[in-house]
Amino acid sequence: MDFDRDAAFPMKEKKHAVSKSIQLKEVEKLDNPVKSAILKGTQESIEFFLPYLIDKKIPTTFYFEARSANIFLDKNPEYLKRLNQSYFEFGIHGYDHEDLSGLETGLTFPEKDEYNIISEAKKKIESLFPKDVIGFRAPYMRKSVNTNKILESLGFVYDSSVYQETISPTFPYYETRKLIEFPVIKTPKNSKMRGMYTYLWPLLESKRNLEEIISNYLELVGNSKDEISYISVNFHSWHFAYNISQERYLIEREIKENLKSFTKLITALENIEDVRFSTPELWLKKHKKVLVKS
Ligand SMILES: [Zn+2]
Repeated sequence: MDFDRDAAFPMKEKKHAVSKSIQLKEVEKLDNPVKSAILKGTQESIEFFLPYLIDKKIPTTFYFEARSANIFLDKNPEYLKRLNQSYFEFGIHGYDHEDLSGLETGLTFPEKDEYNIISEAKKKIESLFPKDVIGFRAPYMRKSVNTNKILESLGFVYDSSVYQETISPTFPYYETRKLIEFPVIKTPKNSKMRGMYTYLWPLLESKRNLEEIISNYLELVGNSKDEISYISVNFHSWHFAYNISQERYLIEREIKENLKSFTKLITALENIEDVRFSTPELWLKKHKKVLVKS
């Protein structure tokens, strides 16, 4: 799960991301990284999906955008305990959801600045939870030319910011000498699943119905030829409660409907023999030895 400010979007000439919900309406807040971080959707989503994850003890990685995590946990300190489960793992997703590539903001970060951003984010999350942070997901899934080197020097073990086009579950691989990449699957346009990312975006934006989403995932799993290959199921902290294409926050009934769809997908996957829920850290603990160093 990417834990962000609601619908984080890059804006020209701004280092921090801006929540879509204020992007058009509250222009006076846009220069301020704190005021640009709206967490209404995350707040309303997490109340529903977290009890489900905890009830079922589903291993989950939270890639935290540090600013939003800090604001959220400051306001809701009870979540410090609720999130601190042995089967939850924490990674970093920028400090202010920076576009490290500069592709859309037109701003690139000198290496030292990027190092400080990621280092401060890691320190912040490690100060909130008694756990080491070893994973990274780049905001917008876009790294800079320096990101891998910075992650290595800060002691990150894995990254999950690269899309890989495939029709079957995949394998992590050494992205650099020390850094392991857990790619996110994207299916080819001409495949049975048509072009889909394993983000739940199409489901939560009502672009594909639940039956299609479930059958896509089942198709992917069915294509697996190796019992330790993996697929990640990806979503955003706010997406059960905010619809981007409709530019609106959802009402409780709709949020519950989204949660129901999510639980049906998880149940469908759970019912497949030999499917295990895991996280990169758990996967590495068991199987790191099979990976070949580059
Ligand atoms: Zn994000």
